[in-house]
Amino acid sequence: MDPTYSPDAEAYREKVLAFLAEHLPATWKGIGALPVDEAWAFVEEWRTVLHANGLLAASWPVEYGGGGLTELEQVILAEEFYKAGVPTGGANDTFGIQMVGNTILQWGTDEQKAHFLPRILSNEDVWCQGYSEPNAGSDLANIGCRAELDGDEWVINGQKIWTSAGHLANWIFVLARTDPDVAKHKGITFLLVPMDQPGVEVRPIKMMTGDSEFNEVFFTDARTPKAHVVGGVGNGWAVAMTLLGYERGEAAATFPIMFRTEIDRLLTLVRERGLAGDPRIRQRLAWAYSKVEIMRYLGMRTLTKYLAGGHPGPDSSIFKLYWSEYHKVVSELSVDILGADAMVPTGRWPMSAFHTDQPGAPNDSASWVGTFMVARAGTIYAGTSQVQRNIIGEMVLGLPKEPGSPRGTWRELQHQQP
Ligand SMILES: Cc1cc2nc3c(=O)[nH]c(=O)nc-3n(C[C@H](O)[C@H](O)[C@H](O)COP(=O)(O)OP(=O)(O)OC[C@H]3O[C@@H](n4cnc5c(N)ncnc54)[C@H](O)[C@@H]3O)c2cc1C
Repeated sequence: MDPTYSPDAEAYREKVLAFLAEHLPATWKGIGALPVDEAWAFVEEWRTVLHANGLLAASWPVEYGGGGLTELEQVILAEEFYKAGVPTGGANDTFGIQMVGNTILQWGTDEQKAHFLPRILSNEDVWCQGYSEPNAGSDLANIGCRAELDGDEWVINGQKIWTSAGHLANWIFVLARTDPDVAKHKGITFLLVPMDQPGVEVRPIKMMTGDSEFNEVFFTDARTPKAHVVGGVGNGWAVAMTLLGYERGEAAATFPIMFRTEIDRLLTLVRERGLAGDPRIRQRLAWAYSKVEIMRYLGMRTLTKYLAGGHPGPDSSIFKLYWSEYHKVVSELSVDILGADAMVPTGRWPMSAFHTDQPGAPNDSASWVGTFMVARAGTIYAGTSQVQRNIIGEMVLGLPKEPGSPRGTWRELQHQQP
């Protein structure tokens, strides 16, 4: 682990700080300090600024509109953006840039790269992720959404669920079953599907926060061109795993910053509520502080490996398990601090169902109660805690593998399910 950065890296940090000073208002306190409507308007304006300066897809090659930054520069950019409390992209860019864009860069044809990548950055194509189904979450390879070739088009029938920001998207990347008569990991194809067609229906799911950030997506004879396969027919599992690596791997540098900022807000809340002398609260705050410090070192270890050209691999499961379980506990502490006020939350709710509330957010009860609710989801999306423990047990600790799944083709296995 090497927690120091080279002089070159620090020089790049100065450039990023100068960029932020030039483009942010002098009174900037973090996006959480803006009323929610203004904050969303800012996200869109900021996205345009990032695009114009080649910082929206910092890692992509310049020829596709990216920044062409080195790994270290990307890390520094993300660190400074998190510290300043500015977004690194728009509402669906996690799906468009980080997930499908990076995956097309790795697996796509030249035509797909030339067509899709610039359209992601210009926001013409806004993406969401069609992986999970009612019978395929942790056991993702069990997906049953079917795609069959009809001339020059795929015809898709089936259902996806928990599709985050699907109501804002006009494209969805779909894991579809194209061959039911081979083993379940083998007959899967990764398809790019336009949503703006009669065969695609998006139905919102109401969350316990009252928002509807995710959806069910139904396909009824939906169509997409034959050429919109990424990575080859029947090779969707390998492509899907590449994409999940992008989903799980990037947090090491930025999450310790995000959670440290949250602790600072929590300390203010404790003082506001007159609880700074309460030994039970102090004990729990000390626990939270030490957990975030450990997270910082854990992140540095992952980062050192990444910057040396290594792939995070199962290490990212340790990190995912660590931060999501930590966040569940610390958000419980915030609700205990609020006491009875947590039962009637008031004020500004978090902008999104992911991670902490935004830097600069007021210490309203709604902010903490909303965070408390979404923290539970952190232990589910991008691989549940139990699944992360399985990966760590088997791939890091070398423990015996789980009992093997039953053998057979996907079609045969459907008849064996309870
Ligand atoms: C906020 C949020 C956003 C999401 N966004 C998207 C999205 O945009 N697109 C998308 O495709 N999906 C999305 N998901 C879905 C997410 O990927 C799944 O919820 C997740 O993979 C778990 O699947 P499941 O919900 O079907 O639970 P299941 O897999 O049915 O798991 C149920 C329980 O069984 C446990 N379990 C399962 N298998 C094992 C095992 N082998 N060993 C031990 N325990 C096990 C799990 O840990 C869990 O506790 C989102 C989920 C959330 C919460």
